Amino acid sequence: LRAAFAVPTSAELRPGGADWMAAHWMPFTGNRQFKADPRWVVAADGAYLIDADGRRVFDGLSGLWCTGLGHGRREIVQAVQRQVATLDYAPAFQFGHPLSFELANRIVERMPAGLNRVFFTGSGSEAADTALKIARAYWRARGQASKTRFIGRVKGYHGVNFGGISVGGIVGNRKLFGQAVEADHLPHTQPPAGSFYRGQPPADAPYAQTLAEQLLDLIALHDASTIAAVIVEPFSGSAGVVVPPVGYLQRLRDICTQHDILLIFDEVITGFGRCGAWTAAEAFGVVPDVLNFAKQVTNGVQPLGGVVVRQDIYDTFMAAGGPEYALELPHGYTYSAHPVACAAGLAALHLLQHDEALARVRALAPVFEAKVHALRGASPHVTDIRNYGLAAGLTLAPVPGEPLKRPFEVAMRMWAKGFYVRYGGDTVQLAPPFISTEAQIDDLCDALGQTLRELT
Ligand code: PMP
Repeated sequence: LRAAFAVPTSAELRPGGADWMAAHWMPFTGNRQFKADPRWVVAADGAYLIDADGRRVFDGLSGLWCTGLGHGRREIVQAVQRQVATLDYAPAFQFGHPLSFELANRIVERMPAGLNRVFFTGSGSEAADTALKIARAYWRARGQASKTRFIGRVKGYHGVNFGGISVGGIVGNRKLFGQAVEADHLPHTQPPAGSFYRGQPPADAPYAQTLAEQLLDLIALHDASTIAAVIVEPFSGSAGVVVPPVGYLQRLRDICTQHDILLIFDEVITGFGRCGAWTAAEAFGVVPDVLNFAKQVTNGVQPLGGVVVRQDIYDTFMAAGGPEYALELPHGYTYSAHPVACAAGLAALHLLQHDEALARVRALAPVFEAKVHALRGASPHVTDIRNYGLAAGLTLAPVPGEPLKRPFEVAMRMWAKGFYVRYGGDTVQLAPPFISTEAQIDDLCDALGQTLRELT
């Protein structure tokens, strides 16, 4: 591997090699810290990342919630190799390639009934901004151009483009950039700290319906004639796996329907298996008007995202007419529906089906749930634990003056022990691969328990 890809050894990559590392401004990483003390991933295999010392590190977040089928799946690798050798790029502007049509059909088959038109993007952030633009343009096409405002949720995450950070509510991602698009935020759906609920919190808890009904206050304040869409993650991933109470999403659905507001589910994390269903819409039994996906659709192998809409939304654009060269939606990306990404997507969807990955997630979820919740006693700093499907978040009490230090420390110590997990805000996040064994889940949770005890 080192010879084939000129991967330097870890010794060569130590701070002595800082000049070589200077040019790359790394994303979502503390650059100074990394460049002083790097952790390299140079290969991957199944449920493991492999570091520059050849160590196998369990991939406890499935990449970034995207490689549930494990790394290096032969069927996906071969599909990508074949496609890149056949058609490595295809232009738009009145030209198309068949794989994107095939993939759209395969995606629609897995969507709740009624969601059946797919617009492709290159990422989840692009999907978020695409969905917001479709929502505004849809109302404009229907003669309701005043419907421009969006409603997101406190601690919601919809990527990092300007639309996404405006409707998103993770303060750290917005504070340097401001808000570009008019948006308000519904309250966070997290129950009081220390609830330690399993799966979905019950509807009769004090935080249930009233949370969704705050949407009525925002509608009263702004008037439905100014509101284009409500966008939520069915459960918030980046906020640390925050699952809404039973009935919350249905109540949002009902209010949006009553007031002619589009409901967008951002299923970039929840789509294609992590909930043990094709979508969270299916798992929670609530159908949005627009559904965003990315990540797991290609098993993370190629960048691909998209937006699925109801047919009548698509038809509204098609009915607008105009000259034959007119674009119904003047929007798209150079890499929308990239043929190599579509090939990866087709192979990944086939494998998800063929491996019975969804059933596997459903079977593993209770094992994972029990292990994760057993961490409650590992440290007094653990103030809450939440889970759904193969995703979990632990909240850690802040260190005075350095509120986010503990989750960071946990993630770094876990890496040293041979486990990759993510820190995010005051939480530690877990999303093991669908192909995990029970023993691997045990080891992951045991290592986390040991780490939490060390830090106490
Ligand atoms: N929406 C959600 C719910 C996400 O979790 C993410 C990524 N974590 C995004 C959007 C953004 O996706 P990307 O990083 O592919 O732009």
